[in-house]
Amino acid sequence: MQATEKVKYLIIGQGLVGTWMSYHLDNAGISYKVVNDLTIQSATSVASGVINPVTGRRIVQTWLIETILPYAVKQYQDIADKLNIEIIKSAPIMLIHPSLQMKESFDYRMAHENIYLFNQDPTAWTPYFKMPFGIGAIDECYWMDLNTMTKHWHHYLTTTGKYISDHFSYSDIELKENVVNWKNIQAEKIIFCDGVNAMNNPYFNALPFAPNKGEALIIKVPGLPNNHIYKNNVSIVPWKDDLFWVGSSYEWKFSDSNPTTSFKEKMIQSLDLFLELPYEVMEHITGIRPANTQRRPFVGIHPVYPQLAICNGMGTKGCSLAPYFTNELLGHMEQGHPIEPEASLDRFKSILSGIK
Ligand SMILES: Cc1cc2nc3c(=O)[nH]c(=O)nc-3n(C[C@H](O)[C@H](O)[C@H](O)COP(=O)(O)OP(=O)(O)OC[C@H]3O[C@@H](n4cnc5c(N)ncnc54)[C@H](O)[C@@H]3O)c2cc1C
Repeated sequence: MQATEKVKYLIIGQGLVGTWMSYHLDNAGISYKVVNDLTIQSATSVASGVINPVTGRRIVQTWLIETILPYAVKQYQDIADKLNIEIIKSAPIMLIHPSLQMKESFDYRMAHENIYLFNQDPTAWTPYFKMPFGIGAIDECYWMDLNTMTKHWHHYLTTTGKYISDHFSYSDIELKENVVNWKNIQAEKIIFCDGVNAMNNPYFNALPFAPNKGEALIIKVPGLPNNHIYKNNVSIVPWKDDLFWVGSSYEWKFSDSNPTTSFKEKMIQSLDLFLELPYEVMEHITGIRPANTQRRPFVGIHPVYPQLAICNGMGTKGCSLAPYFTNELLGHMEQGHPIEPEASLDRFKSILSGIK
């Protein structure tokens, strides 16, 4: 019989959230292991990796951005330094207005309290784009190479003996007083960072998840500068070398996670309308965002089973939210610090306790 191995925390999942959770624990010198199943589709692997301080067609400032943005930028720089890689780039978004209405909306926001928006001289961009309604820009945007980050962190976890490549079956959880067992591991807490698969987790599946499917194309555009992000009806984001990520869809109703011909055709139509350069479609990728009906994360300890915690529900904003809220969860578990009320699991106390 295998001897029991004791760790303080067992993390399930190594997407963006599991990566940041384990990174903070590592920095704090606290013992942990990460269980991850690479055969499960991860949202992180197909995300464009953008942090944009404004959001939506109305171009309003993103929730908590003034706190979260500087924190996230520092954390991505720190993990890059630790792993000796480059993963974060400052990359303003060039907003190629798709209609007169969108240009007017941008001008209105720029004139009213929005510190991130500014005008652009279109001359420099005429070789690349058709711009009948002009061009604006969004400052303080960042692009993260998430695949390089998770791949190198996976390597770090493996070489330090902290990575378990396995499928975590929720029915294998054995709850004991003050500890939880899984296979031959005993932990004080399991932290679920299992993305959309949390909907299969019997301890947390009562949370109001609303999975959202996103598709993207990877295209090759020789000659397009890769130090900016471009946005019209679609976004064009640097991916690797002369490859760019193009997307995305936001589908609340879908029957599977497969790529669709209709999405591909729509993207090609949109690209042809505003991109001047020739391009080639290289790949078509899809993923499911762990979104929810409240558009706020789920962060905290289970009200009935204190051995179980969760950090999930990052929706469309995992890049900026994940570093911050994994750290909040750590502070909560270790020092009892409060969690931002809008993200705290406290708001689901009744639902998770089974109280109707
Ligand atoms: C097309 C698309 C574009 C996006 N673009 C952006 C963007 O530009 N900016 C942004 O901020 N966000 C973006 N997002 C959202 C972002 O991807 C998510 O918010 C984020 O990746 C969620 O991370 P996660 O760790 O919660 O989930 P995931 O990345 O899905 O990770 C979950 C991990 O848990 C593992 N796992 C699950 N269950 C088990 C189990 N039982 N046993 C073992 N392992 C398990 C999985 O293998 C996976 O590795 C995008 C999403 C999509 C789909």
